[in-house]
This record gives sequence, structure tokens and C-alpha cells, in this order.
Amino acid sequence: MDTRPSRQTRQKEAVLRSLVDSGRSLAPAEILELARAEVPTLNLSTVYRQLRTLHEEAQVVRVDLPGQAARFEAPCSHAPVRGHAHHHHHFHCTACDRVFPIHGCPGGIERLAPAGFRVEQHELTLRGRCADCAGAAA
Ligand SMILES: [Zn+2]
Ligand SMILES: [Zn+2]
Ligand SMILES: [Zn+2]
Repeated sequence: MDTRPSRQTRQKEAVLRSLVDSGRSLAPAEILELARAEVPTLNLSTVYRQLRTLHEEAQVVRVDLPGQAARFEAPCSHAPVRGHAHHHHHFHCTACDRVFPIHGCPGGIERLAPAGFRVEQHELTLRGRCADCAGAAA
């Protein structure tokens, strides 16, 4: 009997591994580039298909930044903070278009809301140049 992992499984693992290894929020095209090192036959539509399955199985998290196409990242392993489920924010480099998670939250953002309003969630995106791009410009 053939016990090798199926092609589907190898594709899925390559997609997941590229997200875990990069530690970033990746666009499908970036995932394709990384995962191809492992599974050269991958193409963009297989990446989308595997992402859809992984998302349904809660193995990846979808990141929707304003005005940006969806990116994906591996679930964060950072611990909950003061009893709140860990959530994190993102840094978008406007030079190379890469997105990096920021594993922290300033907190207290609720206080910005008008009196009587109840904030239930928030998102924060920092924009600028990542270390690579800031260094290149200097
Ligand atoms: Zn950059
Ligand atoms: Zn995190
Ligand atoms: Zn936050």
C-alpha cells in the first residue's frame, strides 16, 4: 500500500509551513513563492484552494487590512494578556508591501470612544518602512 502523503496533503503542508516559517502575514502570491521551494508544481489556484481549506479548519487566520487584498497568517502562539485573548496588530511596509504582525496592543483605546459608546473590538495598522527598507533608504 502507498503510504506517501497525497499530493493534496503535501500542498497543504507546504502552504502552512510557509506561513509558520515566515512569521509574517502573507499574500497568496508570497505563499506561492515560498511553498514552491517544497512543491514545485504549486500554482496560485492551488494555493487559494488550500488556504480556503486551512481557513475552514481554523489552521490559518485571515488578515484584512483596509484597502488591501486578504493576507493570511499562522495562528499566533503568544499567550493571552491579562485574561484577554491575545490579539495582535500589523505593520504594513509601504515600500515592499510586506505585512508583519505586532504582538502587542497599547490598550486603553476604548477611552477614545464617545461617552456611552461601548467598543467591542479594534484594529490597528502601523504603516511605514520595515527594517530592510528603512536601512536601504539610509
Ligand atoms: Zn519593507
Ligand atoms: Zn500575536
Ligand atoms: Zn489591540
